Formats: sequence, structure tokens, C-alpha cells
Amino acid sequence: MRTLPRARVLMYHGVDTVPSSRDPHGLFVTPQAFRDQVDHLLESGFAPVSEEQYVAAVHGAPLPRKAVLITFDDGYLGVGEHAAPVLASYGVPSVLYVPVGLIGGRSDWLEPPHRHPLMGVDELRAVQQQGMGIASHGLDHAALPTLSDDELRRHAAETREVLGSLVGAEVRSFAFPYGTHDARSRAAVRAAGYDIAFAVHDPVDELAIERVDVNASDTLRSFRVKLARFYPAAWHAAARFPAVRRAVHELVGRADPVDDTVTVPGSR
Ligand SMILES: [Zn+2]
Repeated sequence: MRTLPRARVLMYHGVDTVPSSRDPHGLFVTPQAFRDQVDHLLESGFAPVSEEQYVAAVHGAPLPRKAVLITFDDGYLGVGEHAAPVLASYGVPSVLYVPVGLIGGRSDWLEPPHRHPLMGVDELRAVQQQGMGIASHGLDHAALPTLSDDELRRHAAETREVLGSLVGAEVRSFAFPYGTHDARSRAAVRAAGYDIAFAVHDPVDELAIERVDVNASDTLRSFRVKLARFYPAAWHAAARFPAVRRAVHELVGRADPVDDTVTVPGSR
């Protein structure tokens, strides 16, 4: 196993104004909250890095102090409309993970009332021009551990090839749908040629890197707590011990860190 870079990795989903009735999983951060969070990062001396810099760091290259990688899962249209222009205005890089079989479609893995439109090829190329890396989030958002070996190859290797030709760039990284992975799915991602892959809460190595979930319930206060070095350790402690969980919950305000332990397929 490689030594992973000392960088925070933030995981966003949508950036848009969506009523909670249409977003029960809290995937959508409002455009204003997103702008405030980016302002806070920059004012606090965080150094946003690109996917390319992060991959280089996994191979031993140095990163700036307080490095942070901003990631978006799923490729919601609002990320192109509301997040990409803000990031571009500051020259802040990021990386977007798209389910390659659903480009231009909707988030069909969610219940019908909770589905939202996803970027098409034109939108992906536009955000790429604005500084977003584009990478694979599988084929149709199926959880990789549920797939056969043949299906795993399609969801990992074929999406890398297809997406690479669609966006005209090598696809270096992968984000596991629902954050779920096992040894077999990590092996498929490695065999497909990805340098790194992102999970959420159960890190293993560079093919299952932990990320911090930023969601609709976050206030600027909870966002600040999530950026702290101790946050991942506190989150894991909270998941194991109810008393610590309550303490962390108090600390981050409305953002209950335990909500994110639900990674059952269909939950988001
Ligand atoms: Zn996803």
C-alpha cells in the first residue's frame, strides 16, 4: 500500500436549489452555500489541488500544505450551472465522477420522484473547459460488489475507455457508486488501469480513499468541523460509540455524521 497524500478530499453530489421533498438524501447543496464554502476554503488558506496533482502525490510528488481535492459524484446538471462557474472564477480545480451509461439521462438509481437530470456530453466538455476533471462513477451506478466478473469489467474498464474517448482525456480515477467496494471490485478497478479510486468511509489503500461528505444539511460551522484533521477519526469513533456520536453531532450541528453510514444500494 502507498502512503496516501495528506490532503482532505471533499465529496459533493448536486449543487442546486432543490426542495427537500425531492432530495430526501440531502444530496443538493444550495448555490449560495457552495459559494460560501469555497470562499471559506480559500480564506482559510486551503490549497485546492487537481485530480492530476492528487494522483501525482499518490506516486510520491509533494502537495501544498492544507491541500484539498473537491470531488462531485453523479454529474448533476446544477453542478455545471452553479458550481463550475464559481470554481472557474477562482481558478479552483475539481473532479467530476459520472455514471457513464447515464450521461445525458437522469439519476435513475433513485426513486422516481427523487431523480434529477445529469449532464450530457456537451455539458461535460463545457465543465472540463472550466477546470473540472471528468472521471468514472461506473456504468449505471450499480454497487460494484453486486456485479459478476464480466459486469465488473464493463463497469470499470469499459467506462474508462468510453469516457476517455468522449472527453478526449485519459481517465485516471474512479469513484465507487454508494462508496461500496470489496477486494474483487478494487481488483477490477486496478486491472482497468485507474491510478486511484474513491470510497467514502471505509478506506483501504489508493483504490479506496476516504472522502468527507458535504451535503444539504451542512452549515458553514459543520463544514469547518469537517475540514479539521481530526474529523475522519472522530467520525469513525462516532460510528462505533453512541456517546461520542452525540458529541460529534453537537459539534457539527445539524449534520449528523452517522447518516452517511447508510450505503445500501438505492439509498442515493
Ligand atoms: Zn453516486
